[in-house]
Amino acid sequence: MAIETVGIIGSGLMGTGIAQICAVAGLKVIVRDINEDALARAIKSITASLSKLVEKQKIEDSVKTAALASITTTTEMKALASADFIIEAATENLGLKQTILKEMESIASPSCIIATNTSSVSVTKLAATLSKPDRFIGMHFFNPVPVMSLVEIIRAVQTSEATFAETEALARRVGKTPIGVKNAPGFVVNRILCPMINEAIFVLQEGLASREEIDAGMKLGANHPIGPLALADLIGLDTMLAVMNVFYADFKDPKYRPAPLLQEMVDAGYLGRKTGRGFYQY
Ligand code: NAD
Repeated sequence: MAIETVGIIGSGLMGTGIAQICAVAGLKVIVRDINEDALARAIKSITASLSKLVEKQKIEDSVKTAALASITTTTEMKALASADFIIEAATENLGLKQTILKEMESIASPSCIIATNTSSVSVTKLAATLSKPDRFIGMHFFNPVPVMSLVEIIRAVQTSEATFAETEALARRVGKTPIGVKNAPGFVVNRILCPMINEAIFVLQEGLASREEIDAGMKLGANHPIGPLALADLIGLDTMLAVMNVFYADFKDPKYRPAPLLQEMVDAGYLGRKTGRGFYQY
């Protein structure tokens, strides 16, 4: 199937980035949010981001103009009826996503593939809300979307091979490198990354080394571009805690228990960069 029009549900941080890369790749993009302000912010942010790329000579001015002309915004779900592929990137909430998906399936064309950008909801569970779950899949982009190369493509139990192949092709078409993953909490990257950061917090809590020494250790000894504690501050300690709690609850394995110091920091309101204080002061 030739994909010409991509629908995007949710124009927050992720939906905005996804809209930008799809438009730059020459696709028609329809972005739907329930919030008019979020849609206006998305267009402003994409315009600024594309202007920067033109300044840096990464894209031609004509590409910026064409990309902006190919994006339409709407608050109406039925405006997505012409989409060949729809990516759901709304607020991370199971009930909300289930409601959106049901409504989406009722207006989408029969051949349309529906993908979710969820980080933590089971793709298999979401697929089960649809009457054609074989056309449903996870497409997990990374933040900031225009910069990060990876997309995890998550097969629900119900996902067909044809759906997987078309989604993989779309990921490549928008300039990303896809990896295929079976549905499981955290998929691949967060499953490895978050327990590693949690372990760094245990190391700090046990007083084995200072925050600076732990971060220097992983930067210089494992060639990581940023230390795990500085990265935790960047992600947000509340987000980190929520992810570890999901792993702990879903796998029922004590190896995923959140570090008590992580819980303590969140209780204190020290959430990282966004509150000016986490493991470091900002
Ligand atoms: P966000 O809060 O920035 O944006 C969510 C948007 O969804 C908001 O603009 C909100 O108005 C909109 N929305 C809510 N209900 C809606 C509805 N019924 N219809 C249409 N739009 C609706 O969130 P985000 O960070 O962009 O995350 C979106 C999704 O992407 C989540 O599932 C999240 O888990 C996932 N994700 C986030 C990141 C990240 O780093 N932030 C990374 C990968 C995946």
